[in-house]
Amino acid sequence: MSDTDNFDRGLAIYPGSFDPITNGHIELIFRGLEVFDRLVVAVAHNPRKEPMFTTEERTRLIREALPERPDLEVDCFEGLLVDYAARRHARVILRGLRAVADFESEFQMANMNKKINPAVETLFMMTGEKYFFLSSQNVREVATFGGPVDDLVPPNVAKALREKLGS
Ligand code: ADP
Repeated sequence: MSDTDNFDRGLAIYPGSFDPITNGHIELIFRGLEVFDRLVVAVAHNPRKEPMFTTEERTRLIREALPERPDLEVDCFEGLLVDYAARRHARVILRGLRAVADFESEFQMANMNKKINPAVETLFMMTGEKYFFLSSQNVREVATFGGPVDDLVPPNVAKALREKLGS
């Protein structure tokens, strides 16, 4: 039996910071579920980063924003993404590509991951045009300055942003 016999071929991991989850992420999750049998949304816990929301908050916001269904799981991980993917026996890492600006860093990351574990493939999905300019970062910025984010994030996230920023 080769190493790759252990893979769960229907499973994809969709990793990210999700600080916080946006409607762009959610659209990608539903499109991912059309392609893969099962999807794990994996929230990265990086002790060196200072996110707006803690790992626990980011995970909870995602769980609240998504329907409960057997083919969808929300988890968090620390350390190397490819190690996490291997632990889950996943063959595929799913990433979203927005503007050309995403390409360079995604290309580097996919190559690095491929070097560490050649059996794990990174697959990209293009962002829906509606969400092309949407990022967690610009949501945080708009919210910080009191701008409207209700069209950009699910209602529970808009509420959490208002609470966090005291607005
Ligand atoms: P990270 O912090 O790991 O770069 P993010 O949490 O910002 O990631 O996003 C996780 C994944 O979702 C990435 O692959 C990113 O390209 C993708 N993504 C981010 N925003 C959108 C969007 N508006 N539409 C589709 N995909 C997106």
